[in-house]
Amino acid sequence: MSSRVAHYLQEHLLGEVIDSSDARRYFSCDGSVFQIAPSLIVYPRNENDIRKTARFTWQLAERGRLIPITPRGAGTDETGAAIGSGIILAFTAHMNRILELNTKAKTVNVEPGINYGKLQQVLHTHGQYIPAYPPGIDYSTIGGAIANNSSGENSFKFGSIRNFVKSLRFVLANGEVISVGNLSKRELSKKLGLATFEGEIYRSIDILIEENSELIDRMKLHTTLNNSGYALSEVKHKDGSFNLIPLIAGSQGTLGIITEAQLATEDYDPVSCMVMAEFDSAEKMQQAVVDFNASKEMADSIELIDQSSLEEVFKLNPNHLKDLVSVPLPRFLVFLRYANQKKPPKSARKILETYAKSFDVSDDPEEQIKFIKVKEAINLVIAHNEGLLRPLPLFDGSVPVDRLREYLEGLDNINKSNHLHAAIWGHLGLGHLTMKPRLNLGHVGDRQKIFRILEEYNQLVIGLGGTVSSTSGDGRLKAPYTQYVYGPELYALMVKVKQIFDPYGTLNQGVKFNSSVEDFKTILRSDFSLNHIYDHLPRA
Ligand SMILES: Cc1cc2nc3c(=O)[nH]c(=O)nc-3n(C[C@H](O)[C@H](O)[C@H](O)COP(=O)(O)OP(=O)(O)OC[C@H]3O[C@@H](n4cnc5c(N)ncnc54)[C@H](O)[C@@H]3O)c2cc1C
Repeated sequence: MSSRVAHYLQEHLLGEVIDSSDARRYFSCDGSVFQIAPSLIVYPRNENDIRKTARFTWQLAERGRLIPITPRGAGTDETGAAIGSGIILAFTAHMNRILELNTKAKTVNVEPGINYGKLQQVLHTHGQYIPAYPPGIDYSTIGGAIANNSSGENSFKFGSIRNFVKSLRFVLANGEVISVGNLSKRELSKKLGLATFEGEIYRSIDILIEENSELIDRMKLHTTLNNSGYALSEVKHKDGSFNLIPLIAGSQGTLGIITEAQLATEDYDPVSCMVMAEFDSAEKMQQAVVDFNASKEMADSIELIDQSSLEEVFKLNPNHLKDLVSVPLPRFLVFLRYANQKKPPKSARKILETYAKSFDVSDDPEEQIKFIKVKEAINLVIAHNEGLLRPLPLFDGSVPVDRLREYLEGLDNINKSNHLHAAIWGHLGLGHLTMKPRLNLGHVGDRQKIFRILEEYNQLVIGLGGTVSSTSGDGRLKAPYTQYVYGPELYALMVKVKQIFDPYGTLNQGVKFNSSVEDFKTILRSDFSLNHIYDHLPRA
């Protein structure tokens, strides 16, 4: 891209526009195995800067010149959705404020670049919190979390962050700014009558849903979480109400740019009771999870680490789990947490007594630190490099909980047939399991292995009726597989949604759609690190 574009934008925007090779290199990576250098970086000061940038790229696209825009929070995305070849809109520098906190109404209005961990701390001081947050809350921004429809341990009870988004301000591909939220039937008719791009979007999406309602009904998978494609089935309800938020939360910057969000908060009570349970068979653990899912008295979270994870922790630091875990090491360790309770409900006890080999319960914060230390020991494994071998983020699937045993078996088989020894953990209650095989991205054999294991893994998950994208989105990594999750007809509908919002393809090109496994070959990094998550801000 010519520096004339940078000059033009700098003249018209309040925020900085930078195209130095250092900045371009820094923003060429996110948390994924991919690398694409952008042409320039814009640090928007306000919504107007974003509106103008989108309008500019739209006008160029009308004349046949494509410069894609990639919005970016902290860049922790593991799917390659926070990198792109055109303009990066970097939100953390300036658009990072809390705009309004209403503890009575239990809502908070924020700009997208605010650090999610800091926001949560502020909410805690007011006895509030947002229960759906990713494990990397301290690194993530709220904008990135919404765009990824993030979820984490509490999502077992509370679902993903989409459930907490009440309204959004949103810049469309042509630079028009809209407010999005739940609309009554009457409010929808008003939108349908607008002679603007917004009106066109509402009309087209409404017709698409009406004409394909039976097909869309079929898109509901039997998994608790699903971030594959666009959540078309959640937009229009039986009473005629209509809400674009489920499409946007999870769209990874491919439908427009979030400039402000209003989120609902919940009362925060630090008192909780925790259970650490040992299971000696996958069948019993699966049955326990099925029963926990069916129970009315839901845990907030149900998390897993497996024996190979514990073995690795012992190898890396023999003292880390000393006296905290029994030896010989349990096959599966499962952690349950019940917020605002001193002990687990009777139904949970019964399930544990039936299926667990043993379990410990604690409502004592001091003792719970020990449970948490065991649960979070997986971070040692995730962060550990062995020479040039790096733990790579390739998998994020979940399956219906009554297929968990087969999922575990399948992961074991992938490990064995590819001579890997990867630890397995995940948000068990959600049917989510993951592993990060250690491979050397600078080694041809390992690079080829990535293609093989991606194929094997995605076939496994889809074959079990699951989704390849559960806690975060499709990005570039899973884009080639979405068509197999849904089949060709539903996939075609999702491509139409993208075309309705983004007719010229200026929004985060290659993310979610238009990306093939063949493309990976040119964008695969030659080394992997997460160095970029440290802040990169413009000099004053
Ligand atoms: C070790 C590790 C574990 C992880 N585990 C989880 C997990 O369990 N659950 C989970 O949900 N995630 C997980 N993630 C992924 C990621 O950390 C989260 O999804 C996080 O919330 C993303 O926030 P971010 O600010 O880093 O977003 P970014 O990575 O910067 O962006 C994420 C996506 O949001 C888009 N985006 C950012 N800002 C905007 C905006 N203003 N408007 C429109 N689009 C925007 C980007 O274009 C991109 O597509 C994990 C990541 C790592 C490194």
